[in-house]
Amino acid sequence: MSAHTFWDGPYDGRCGPGRGIPFGSSSVQHGSAVFEGIRAYASTTGEPHLFRLDDHLIRLLGSARELGIRHAYDLDRLRELVIEATAASGLHDCYVRPGLFAADPVLSIDVGRLPFTLGVEVWPMAAPGAAARGPGVRLTVSPWCRPSPSSFPPRVKAVGTYVTSALAKSAAVAAGYDDALQLDPGSGRVAEATVSNVFLVRDCALHTPWLCDSLLAGITRDTVLTLARELGLAVYQGPVETEDVRAADEVFLTGTASELVPVAALDEHAYAAERPVFDTLATAFRNATTGARFTHPGWLTPVHATARTTTHQGA
Ligand code: PMP
Repeated sequence: MSAHTFWDGPYDGRCGPGRGIPFGSSSVQHGSAVFEGIRAYASTTGEPHLFRLDDHLIRLLGSARELGIRHAYDLDRLRELVIEATAASGLHDCYVRPGLFAADPVLSIDVGRLPFTLGVEVWPMAAPGAAARGPGVRLTVSPWCRPSPSSFPPRVKAVGTYVTSALAKSAAVAAGYDDALQLDPGSGRVAEATVSNVFLVRDCALHTPWLCDSLLAGITRDTVLTLARELGLAVYQGPVETEDVRAADEVFLTGTASELVPVAALDEHAYAAERPVFDTLATAFRNATTGARFTHPGWLTPVHATARTTTHQGA
């Protein structure tokens, strides 16, 4: 799978499409960069649309602000460039990763000294739904907790923090599982999975860990909460213990790339193969992302209608 790379920076031979950013960059050496993952879907009209683009870009700007990253972008400019990059890729169903990176090789961890530039990677990503129809993933509980809020702000989507996710995921896979739940380090409650949020269904009501614990405020999580309310389901955000997950009728994960993924088992405990609430929500999600139903203002941004000619493209 090859991606299309866009770089909103100088073509001075050091960085840009096909070259990436220098190995000596602080973003590479220290993980000081922030990023987003956004889906574009071929909608019912056949045109690609970016799903919840502004919400992702607002989170990107918030991540940058929280880390003290210096850059020259506002929401309008980011939107314009991400649409441009997506349009230039020619892809319809794809995964779009904008990030703010420090390209200059500078031996410093002081992000305030480094100028950050936008890079966008566009990956082909098949039309969704396959995971939702599959048997589900097998989870374990990771010994690796999420970062403590006193070590790192949990709402920030920064490159460096993914080492924690990588640790938990790799250990789970090595032990024969697909993924792992990670706990909040202070409370010991369930926070999220390694790159996704977690939901459980109990007596037809939907539960998910509250944002008081150390988890990313997922945009798919928010979409599912919104759709569930519209479908008339009782929805609770609150403390979730590992035992609550084990005792649930249905469990599923949510994330932009993976969408809604059912959980088949937690350690030795298997869940029922029938998942009526999950199935209803997965269908509603599919309808919302293609614009067939459950449309919300601002959720679908058309790609071609608004795109200008791109100047920076490489594959
Ligand atoms: N938690 C973590 C740690 C993640 O990396 C992701 C993926 N961005 C999520 C949750 C889900 O967030 P979203 O739905 O915004 O993709």
